[in-house]
Amino acid sequence: MSEAELTPEDLAIALPEMAPAQFVGTFEDLDIPDGIRKGLKDLGYTGPTKVQREVFIPVRRGDDVLVQSKTGSGKTTAFALPMLSSLDPSKKYPQALILCPTRELALQVSAETARLGHPNGLRIATIYGGASMRAQVDALDAGAQVIVGTPGRVKDLHRQGVLRFGNMAFAVLDEADEMLSRGFWDEVTSILEQLPDAVDGKPRQTLLFSATLPDAIERAAKQYLRNPTRVNLSTDTLNVATIRHVLHMENEKWAKPRNFLYALELHKPKSSIVFCNRKDETELVCTYLRRFGYRAEALNGDMPQSKRERTLAKVRSGELDMMVATDVAARGIDISDLGHVFNYDLPEHDEVYVHRVGRTGRIGKRGTAVSLIRGKYLSHLTSLRKTYKVPFEEITLPDEKEILWMQAERLAVQILEDASGVEMEQYRPVAEAMIGRGDVKEILAFLLRTHYAQKPRPAYEADGDDSREARPAREPRAERSERPAPRREERAPRDPAMAAAPRTDGPADDEAPLLSPATNLYVTVGLKDGVTDILALAKYLGELSGVDAAHFTGAGAVRDHSSHIEVDNDVADAVIAGCHGKVKPGPQPVRADAPSAEATAPVRDPLAPVMEGDVAAAAEAAPEAPRTIVCERAKSQSSAGGSRRRFDGGGRGRDGGGRGRDGGGRGRDGGGRGRR
Ligand code: ADP
Ligand code: MG
Repeated sequence: MSEAELTPEDLAIALPEMAPAQFVGTFEDLDIPDGIRKGLKDLGYTGPTKVQREVFIPVRRGDDVLVQSKTGSGKTTAFALPMLSSLDPSKKYPQALILCPTRELALQVSAETARLGHPNGLRIATIYGGASMRAQVDALDAGAQVIVGTPGRVKDLHRQGVLRFGNMAFAVLDEADEMLSRGFWDEVTSILEQLPDAVDGKPRQTLLFSATLPDAIERAAKQYLRNPTRVNLSTDTLNVATIRHVLHMENEKWAKPRNFLYALELHKPKSSIVFCNRKDETELVCTYLRRFGYRAEALNGDMPQSKRERTLAKVRSGELDMMVATDVAARGIDISDLGHVFNYDLPEHDEVYVHRVGRTGRIGKRGTAVSLIRGKYLSHLTSLRKTYKVPFEEITLPDEKEILWMQAERLAVQILEDASGVEMEQYRPVAEAMIGRGDVKEILAFLLRTHYAQKPRPAYEADGDDSREARPAREPRAERSERPAPRREERAPRDPAMAAAPRTDGPADDEAPLLSPATNLYVTVGLKDGVTDILALAKYLGELSGVDAAHFTGAGAVRDHSSHIEVDNDVADAVIAGCHGKVKPGPQPVRADAPSAEATAPVRDPLAPVMEGDVAAAAEAAPEAPRTIVCERAKSQSSAGGSRRRFDGGGRGRDGGGRGRDGGGRGRDGGGRGRR
């Protein structure tokens, strides 16, 4: 079998539990061939959902349909069931074309369609870009009757004469609004124009499914649909009954990622999706979460399709705890058993909230939607309550102490899990002897750091490397544990929360070097803002962004109104994201030895979100109007990490706060100048 033809087993669709309220009767009274009935049974579907029932008869009768129905309502089977029931399995050529906006969705639709159609002798070919044409051509040659694909590749194969449209009795546009917003609309309509008007004397049927019906879609419906039956179920957009909507007001004492981490510790999600509003945030959040032992991967539009697909597969198989996604990348994706949907921020548009939370609480299941709320998103909260009557349940995030316990518990369980089956007898006596030492906490902190910061957890590390992916998840870790640890010059950071940054001392064994060059940032904060030197600036930016000041290399220059400062590459984005666009609280001395924002409650917490009112208020209070901080990558970047300067700890006394590093390179100069 070619890889483009999916069998039902390829993509397991878990059997949903019954939730009678969402179903309308049984399939008994519907005109469905036996083979497809068997498919329904295999899928575990005992009755049609509302949209499935409403769409069935018109499509079976030969109508075009224009369907608007909320996500998770069962639209795939709504078009597949009547359409497949109308196809002739004995004819081995393409009879139905389903267009989807993304490859992931095409695969998903293909899998469900295959499970329905296979028992009735129907074959499905999946056609999408970014994969070998050969297999797809083979699937077509093998006589597939149903073609599921993305518009671009469908067009290509048609142009090449491989995919013939001559007998296409059905065209389905799934997630039509998404195809529109992704700019595929011209391709979609050009495909529609090339399809036959009728096959064997019967008019071709066009089925258009969309969560929203913007003008362009209405216009296209007029142009390409024949007097369509409209099914509009969008009034009950929100799946309130099966979803719990939790909101956490962010604690302004903590930076955003920390607030989020704490929410995770509280909810202990098994399998979840985290929505961010920006692509760069997805990477950032992932990096942060991995350091605390979460197996997270980003899913955004910048990533190649193959990687996106792998990530999805990993979430489905439970290999990942969560994917951190943008809306575009996650649109239409159905993952059974997704227990939680997190909103790192509320979306800019209210209806997107409905799409997002629709990823959980799918048919017959319960789910929790968790939203973190701060500053400017408060108004979104109000309008969500008003427009969609979202019954938000506000829960205060636990305090740091409680969270620490939860975190310790989680990590302990996780580590013991990772450790099970690993040969470590030789270390046991040493471990025992260490327990009595006063600095055992430091040792543990360092071990945690190396365990989590340098390498993600075992199951995760195969990412992007197919040769490793084939290996059992636990094996690489086990191998490494038995090898003597490479000697490290570096001292452990004292604070586990600081221990985060992935760095190494250079290439070690077979591990890829993680040492990255530093990034030179340009920032419009300078002496006039009360920043006295580079360390003070590091501290200031660190507090603003939630990135530990220890990540600043010590290189840079502070001028009157702006500065250059070098920061470890892997946190550069976090610093930019945390500082750029923030409003300076006005001239106010920031000294290197000032207590951290988290330890005390400063008059104006630089971590606090910028509220619209703040700007005006600050402008009134200070004669010199506060300015918005520009923080970006500087035009000139030093070439490599090796050339970076570090705080000259011994001589210049800049590391008075104890955060200095020795001049010798990567290492911290631990010699008695520790933080505590
Ligand atoms: P939509 O396209 O409307 O977002 P999907 O077609 O992806 O929804 O279906 C959502 C989930 O519901 C899927 O997991 C699917 O397997 C399940 N499902 C669909 N129809 C039924 C049914 N009749 N009975 C039980 N589960 C169903
Ligand atoms: Mg769908």
